[in-house]
Amino acid sequence: MEFKPFDIDQIDHKNHSLWRYKSFIPLENTEPVTLGEGFTNMMPIILNNKTVWIKQEHLFPSGSYKDRGATVLITDAYRLGVKHVVQDSSGNAGCAIAAYAAKAGISCDIYVPANTSPAKLVQLQMYGAKLKLINGTREDVAHAAKEAAQHSYYASHCYNELFWQGTKTFAYEIAEQLGWQCPDVVVLPAGNGTLLIGAYLGFKHLKESGITSKLPKLVAIQSENCAPLYQTWKSGSEQLIKVSTQPTLAEGIAISEPYRWREMLHAVNETNGLFITVTEAEISSQLRWCANNGYYIEPTSAATIAGLIKCTTLIDEAIWVSLFSGHGLKSTEKLAALLG
Ligand SMILES: *Cc1c(COP(=O)(O)O)cnc(C)c1O
Repeated sequence: MEFKPFDIDQIDHKNHSLWRYKSFIPLENTEPVTLGEGFTNMMPIILNNKTVWIKQEHLFPSGSYKDRGATVLITDAYRLGVKHVVQDSSGNAGCAIAAYAAKAGISCDIYVPANTSPAKLVQLQMYGAKLKLINGTREDVAHAAKEAAQHSYYASHCYNELFWQGTKTFAYEIAEQLGWQCPDVVVLPAGNGTLLIGAYLGFKHLKESGITSKLPKLVAIQSENCAPLYQTWKSGSEQLIKVSTQPTLAEGIAISEPYRWREMLHAVNETNGLFITVTEAEISSQLRWCANNGYYIEPTSAATIAGLIKCTTLIDEAIWVSLFSGHGLKSTEKLAALLG
């Protein structure tokens, strides 16, 4: 793709969705398939005596920031005249693709692990997606979807580069909401890296266009029970370290072999960031803290907040940004189990 500098004058200021940045999303000129997503509010919240700007990414139409990628990917599929897509997901990416496919009148098959949260399975079916429940690991699910994709359009959030063209708007929004300042640190979840890589691309675009003068440190959070990138980063290995995994409350980031692991490591290393792991006890304690303060998020989202709190004890910076990645209503049964 040709380099097109970011230009504040080309923002569509009347549009209060992420499509205000349409000029910088490399699609053929076409009408977006949109549900009014993005440009999420950024709330100052005091955590560990630091004020952190928290993007409300759980307030997307399908309940997670995956809508950023899905709106762009499905817009292009619709333009191409695609009638059917397949996708695999641990839940939220599937819900996002199913939502935009429904809006576009495209049918979809979503491959999910058989143990996916019931609330997400209901949401997928309500959108009209056909569920393909796979017994086995997350990798088995991906394998089944790839087979099916040989005869269909693969709307994958891991392979399809258009997904990052959507998630990079996260960085544009943060910079704009801070008055075109670059934050010092951005703390993000790291499963397949859809947000980590998108944020990196967006902040890099702003810097290369002369809008901001630096890149923020990107800090990536993994669950201690499934932390292949943390292990690889810590050991300095040239290959992705194979880890043994345990179940975790943070199901959305439990990815043992992320396809884009090199890009994820690069994003953290080039920005002088770090990887941090969090325990199950830390995740559930932050989940309760958030809900007790009125923020109803899913357990995976609490892992990021737990990592953020650890991070504030490790590095000293001024402007902090993080996010609530998914809505609590996605995981009612897990939250009920926590209540006992
Ligand atoms: C997808 C997701 C994440 C992060 O995962 P990536 O695969 O790294 O993008 C975090 N939280 C929620 C709620 C998610 O849906």
